[in-house]
Amino acid sequence: MRSLTVVPAVLLSVCVLGLGGCDQKKETAAKTAQTTTPTPAAAEPDWCAEHGVPESICTRCNSKLIAEFKQKGDWCKEHNLPESQCVACHPELKEKFEAMKPKKDK
Ligand SMILES: [Zn+2]
Ligand SMILES: [Zn+2]
Repeated sequence: MRSLTVVPAVLLSVCVLGLGGCDQKKETAAKTAQTTTPTPAAAEPDWCAEHGVPESICTRCNSKLIAEFKQKGDWCKEHNLPESQCVACHPELKEKFEAMKPKKDK
């Protein structure tokens, strides 16, 4: 018995693995694109792009938060916003939130 037959088998499997890997990647990407639901917020971090504040403290999207902020005394009646988010009264907050804003590389 000679073990020469093992060599072609190994070479073959390397080829198959190499090609298969490539094909699999493409397939997975295609599948992901197809199954992804049209909700851009799904992969988004905690950020409300519309209002420029973290979603978790966005009183304009989540009115339940308003009572909390009012209770803390963190409320600007004039602008209907938490004082800590009111850039009209506190222009320096704009910079702060700008820094918190998640950066998109794509
Ligand atoms: Zn919002
Ligand atoms: Zn204000």
